[in-house]
Amino acid sequence: MDMIINEGLVNEVLAVGQDRSAPHVREVLAKAREMRGLTDHEVSVLMGISDPELLHELFDAAKYVKDTIYGRRLVLFAPLYVSNLCHNDCVYCAFRVRNKEVRRRALNQDEIAHEVKVLVEQGHKRILLVAGESYPKEGFDYVLKSVDTIYKVKSGRGEIRRVNVNVAPLDMDQFKALKATNIGTYQLFQETYHRETYAKVHLAGKKRDFDWRITAMDRAIEAGIDDVGVGILFGLYDWRWEVLAMLQHIRHLEGRFGVGPHTISVPRMEPAVGSDMASHPPMPVSDVDFRKLVAILRLAVPYTGIIMSTRETANLRRESFALGVSQISAGSRTNPGGYEENDISKEFEAAQFQVGDHRPLDEVVRDVASMGYIPSFCTGCYRLGRTGADFMDLAKPGAIKQHCDPNGLSTFTEYLLDYASPETREIGMALVDKVMGEMDGKPQRTAQKLVEAVRSGKRDVYV
Ligand code: SAM
Ligand code: SF4
Repeated sequence: MDMIINEGLVNEVLAVGQDRSAPHVREVLAKAREMRGLTDHEVSVLMGISDPELLHELFDAAKYVKDTIYGRRLVLFAPLYVSNLCHNDCVYCAFRVRNKEVRRRALNQDEIAHEVKVLVEQGHKRILLVAGESYPKEGFDYVLKSVDTIYKVKSGRGEIRRVNVNVAPLDMDQFKALKATNIGTYQLFQETYHRETYAKVHLAGKKRDFDWRITAMDRAIEAGIDDVGVGILFGLYDWRWEVLAMLQHIRHLEGRFGVGPHTISVPRMEPAVGSDMASHPPMPVSDVDFRKLVAILRLAVPYTGIIMSTRETANLRRESFALGVSQISAGSRTNPGGYEENDISKEFEAAQFQVGDHRPLDEVVRDVASMGYIPSFCTGCYRLGRTGADFMDLAKPGAIKQHCDPNGLSTFTEYLLDYASPETREIGMALVDKVMGEMDGKPQRTAQKLVEAVRSGKRDVYV
């Protein structure tokens, strides 16, 4: 296979003295507003912005693109940590094999079902399954069984309708088996695209193999998994270098399969028990640079979702919605069994990293709705087969609004009726009416029909 990352090219782009004059920056921003993506050199121009006025214009452009493509929806999900057993030694992670300070636990299927029940009863519809790279005695089947278990749980009027998975790279047969369990997105973060840094922070275990990891998305797509999610662990190496390298990875996938990743995750390193590095990242990304990189990604790959986790504080998350984030986790615990225990003081003993936003789902929903965003629990696309290239075809002409806006409103209404506190319900219902009032044409009629169906007692309606 061709080399996926050409380090020389990344270095070259960063070394070129780009024209960072205000008129040129504005020219790049004007092109970005056309929503056809950006070249590496254009990305590099934007990465160099420091003038507050131009920074403001960058954020404005990102907001424009985000609003035009994604509207005011924000998709919500919960991570489910099923196991913290791991053979690898990633120096930044609490689950690494040599860390004796963490309580090890792999949930059995009954325990997983319990955790899922708690999440369903909070109103969640999407779960991201997460595990270390070592499974209980049944091996990889453990992950397959866990996905089945999650889909089988029913409680009241709710169930999980989309399971995304973040586990170590798999071989073709394993990817095929994972696909057969009906997962949504397969997520895997390269952590760093910089080989030398990669070697320094992955000390033992299978994860040492950079190439096995970077080729995982190719295998996943070849095995039939249309939606894949890439990511960088920010703090390990220069964020500018990483963003340019990730864009190469994305272009490789686009070139080979005609479609790029469905999502990009942007975790920043957070403190973790038993890891000095996690508290002192070698190349920390400041809050300003973090906002900048989210905005730049929104402009560089306008049709790829951006995921932000509870690693970030509530304040930063709020600001980032406007810049391009389209999915957030809410009410998260990163320790196996953490939802049932529901004891934040205990969490750190077995958790992967410290969560910045501890608020329960209802509070996050209320906050998001108060800012005028529609918290969406929609899972329509992948259940109707709109994945991979089909999803992109739908997204590109903006037809996303025909489906996503009505589905967002109907699943939000479902949440409000079945799970919300009275305060959240009041704010949410007013928002649903307001947003529907502002829509027109077919999307408005569809939204009204779906929301009315939910109000009259139907559930899981989508187009
Ligand atoms: N074990 C699998 C792997 O490494 O790909 C999947 C699960 S791992 C728990 C998921 C992600 O957590 C990693 O890809 C890494 O980016 C992130 N992570 C690890 N340590 C972290 C830390 N201290 N702060 C923030 N994210 C961290
Ligand atoms: Fe294991 Fe993943 Fe943590 Fe590395 S990041 S120690 S592979 S759980």
